[in-house]
Amino acid sequence: MSADEQRSFTDWHAAFRERARQRGNVGPAALAAFDALTPDPEVLQRDRSQAELVRPIWDYLDRAVTDARVDAGRALLSERRELFGRISERYGVAPEIVVAIWGVETGYGRDRGRFDVLRALATLAADGRRRGLFEAQLMAALRIHEDGDAREMRGSWAGAMGHTQFMPTSYLAYAVDFDGDGRRDIWSDDPTDALASTAAYLARFGWQSGAPWGHEVRLPEGFDLRLADRRTRRGGADWARLGVARADGGLLDEAGEGALLLPAGAEGVAFLALDNFRVVERYNRAVSYVLAVGHLADRLAGRGPLVGTWPRQARVLETQERRELQERLTSAGFCTRGADGLIGPDTVAAVRAYQLAHGLRPDGYASVCLLERLR
Ligand code: CA
Repeated sequence: MSADEQRSFTDWHAAFRERARQRGNVGPAALAAFDALTPDPEVLQRDRSQAELVRPIWDYLDRAVTDARVDAGRALLSERRELFGRISERYGVAPEIVVAIWGVETGYGRDRGRFDVLRALATLAADGRRRGLFEAQLMAALRIHEDGDAREMRGSWAGAMGHTQFMPTSYLAYAVDFDGDGRRDIWSDDPTDALASTAAYLARFGWQSGAPWGHEVRLPEGFDLRLADRRTRRGGADWARLGVARADGGLLDEAGEGALLLPAGAEGVAFLALDNFRVVERYNRAVSYVLAVGHLADRLAGRGPLVGTWPRQARVLETQERRELQERLTSAGFCTRGADGLIGPDTVAAVRAYQLAHGLRPDGYASVCLLERLR
């Protein structure tokens, strides 16, 4: 850490301390802990490398949903059947979804994170790349420290805590004391409070009891790919009439409203994302994350692996290439509303408009081929 970086941390530290003190919900214990903080260079390093990391969705799913993880999750479901029964009765969330989040977030509690959460959040807030976000999280973390429920506030480099990686603001708003010992303890070896808190969180954001998150689907020959768009939502029976079918052969007619997802374009696996998909998105907005949780939950419930295939031979665009694609689309008249290197709905819409204007298959997928064509 350079002298400049050290100075900018010190300046930020003094200004933030004053705000925390004025706010009044941060008492002497939290201020004392805050005063002892120094920046953590490893946190900055992790933040920088994460910002540039782009992993193909099939790679992410392969690592998130392994046979070993499926087996371990099934064993936990059976060992803790009684606990999951009580959680699911209270919150109406299927045990498999809670266990899938536990598995994807921390390998069922094995990797809950070793970073000092206050120090990590202060480092990220002082750094300033996403200052507003991390200052809000730090303010919440100081409050948690003051309340004293956490014996030791450890978590990920980005401040996510406990078995199911709650951010501090989510902890304050949604964590529950399920075992009734008077503390909302998501950090300890016993996962009871953390798992119930996860179910409480999903319930709070509208989890529909008994409904699936979504399904892997197959599209018929010649399907109008313009319909595969997050903003185009239809009921299961409507999709079935258009020839969309569940990949496992089950009936789609009963499914509620949902949107078709082609996370790797027309060459990859297709999904129908139902309302519960959007609830899991409240936990983490990355499509790959939600699909990993949904698919792991299905596997835990005894269903099989994905039927469709991914374009594994294809490279995916690096972050810098994504920015370039956004710039090139925008200057070609297909506005992406900024070039941040993240593929959101505006970029997908711009890609699709470009594909339609040039007689290409309109799957909205930002591929290497498309970038080469734009060049
Ligand atoms: Ca407790």
